[in-house]
Amino acid sequence: MSQAEDIESVDEDGVIESVSGPVVTATDLDARMNDVVYVGDEGLMGEVIEIEGNLTTIQVYEETSGVGPGEPVQNTGEPLSVDLGPGMLDSIYDGVQRPLDVLEEKMGTAFLDRGVDAPGIDLEKQWEFVPEVETGDTVEPGDVVGTVEETVTIDHKVMVPPDYEGGEVTSVGSGEFTVEETVVELDNGEAIQMHQEWPVREARPAGDKETPTEPLVTGQRVQDGLFPLAKGGTAAIPGPFGSGKTVTQQQLAKWSDADIVVYIGCGERGNEMTEVIEDFPELPDPQTGNPLMARTCLIANTSNMPVAARESCIYTGITIAEYYRDMGYDVALMADSTSRWAEAMREISSRLEEMPGEEGYPAYLAAALSEFYERAGKFQLINGGEGSISVVGAVSPPGGDFSEPVTQNTLRIVKTFWALDADLAERRHFPSINWNESYSLYKDQLDPWWESNVAGDWAETRQWAVDVLDEEDELQEIVQLVGKDALPEDQQLTLEVARYLREAWLQQNALHDVDTYCEPEKTYRMLTAIKTFNDEAFEALDAGVPPEEITDVDAAPQLNRMGTAEEWEEFIDEIENDLKEQLRALY
Ligand code: ADP
Repeated sequence: MSQAEDIESVDEDGVIESVSGPVVTATDLDARMNDVVYVGDEGLMGEVIEIEGNLTTIQVYEETSGVGPGEPVQNTGEPLSVDLGPGMLDSIYDGVQRPLDVLEEKMGTAFLDRGVDAPGIDLEKQWEFVPEVETGDTVEPGDVVGTVEETVTIDHKVMVPPDYEGGEVTSVGSGEFTVEETVVELDNGEAIQMHQEWPVREARPAGDKETPTEPLVTGQRVQDGLFPLAKGGTAAIPGPFGSGKTVTQQQLAKWSDADIVVYIGCGERGNEMTEVIEDFPELPDPQTGNPLMARTCLIANTSNMPVAARESCIYTGITIAEYYRDMGYDVALMADSTSRWAEAMREISSRLEEMPGEEGYPAYLAAALSEFYERAGKFQLINGGEGSISVVGAVSPPGGDFSEPVTQNTLRIVKTFWALDADLAERRHFPSINWNESYSLYKDQLDPWWESNVAGDWAETRQWAVDVLDEEDELQEIVQLVGKDALPEDQQLTLEVARYLREAWLQQNALHDVDTYCEPEKTYRMLTAIKTFNDEAFEALDAGVPPEEITDVDAAPQLNRMGTAEEWEEFIDEIENDLKEQLRALY
């Protein structure tokens, strides 16, 4: 954020009346709701959240210890905004869009100090502006006037800001400019620069939402295969501590086929975020081979950072996502974890002595969550194009109890639910996405895409797998009572097929070089190989072969090696041939 320069436009200073953690009250401050203010002698950034008569309540986005009554409060008169422009990709920000590396230089330490203002984007850097309009052209809000090569992967589109009127182009620059220099002028006097500010709590304007029909391909079999997310869809990953939320989110950030990734580490432990910060710059993007960071913006608000900034990091992240959406990109936003944001709301609300709702969360928890997820979608853009934001929120229910308010309120909003399961994680079945509890409401609308891009019988094959897993679930109850051997032979075989579905197909090792990413064709072929085993096994059973001989064939356990096989096409063809040969030899 770059409100520092606006500080001269300050009206009257207020005076701090009280300080309670991140909540500060001030008297005599001339302010409106959501104005950004600078609090105390150090000028800590805060936001007005309540006004009652002469008393203004502020949530402060920096640590307030040592700040006391009597110190001044200055109003910028501006809402909390982000500075949008080239240079956001490949950046790592704190919750109020201060670049961590710049802060580190200024403060000599990472994970920041207080009262330091640093612009969200580099104001001095020169970018090569390539115009896409000419003098005499008419442009409207949202229209692209030129591009800048922001990273090796992404062309940044310089757009007429949505709150401009638009008009006829009277001059166009070409060549090197800083983001503050004017590149295009309009006949009504409007000057377009390569950056624009936008208030984070206000969704950037867009046209209608469309029904998403393309999947966000994740490269994770259980997600693509059973519970797909649409580009422009919403998903939640709830799971107890240690069940794999962070790994799952990071896998999505690394491998999903979004153009742009905004990754928000919200209130999670510092070491997890450090892992992301260290890992990502090293990793290649599977689609382009370029560094992953070239399409990624990281926002890190770790658990040791001020609580109130968890809220601003969520809003900052979604606003950055909307800006790239407006360029026509497919953006994926990961928030890890929305529970920490909800806890911040709870803390602020209790300090405000508001009437608590369920489990102490404020009554507006549901509204805040749905407003956030509502900003996801596949949109028609105001410039006539299309762009999307997919939002994936991790939820960390205490004790893994999904009946708690954050999980329940999230469930009412999102359409894909990847339920992580402590038992599966305990048994080292990863990703620990529980196939009985999880769901995707996008399945039907995405099937045509998979069918025309991967395999004509995608939906049918998936349904076969779902049926086998369902049957296994029912049979397990009987097995627990009477043992597997008491089952009829065909059901014993079904259990064996289901075991391969779980172990060879649903399990996927994020830490294995090959298995970490599974392209849709491979996901499909692995499944059809297991189905081949199923079909051949039942043929053999019909021909009178005992089940233990069927399951004993050498080729069957090879199914478990498909995920890690590098030359998977040959490998899977070979297994299928061997399976057929060996099973047919039994009768
Ligand atoms: P959470 O964020 O829910 O507390 P993590 O994402 O940190 O849990 O996962 C805990 C551990 O589980 C990881 O350190 C890793 O060892 C293991 N794990 C989780 N998901 C996978 C996966 N897909 N493949 C391999 N290991 C995994």
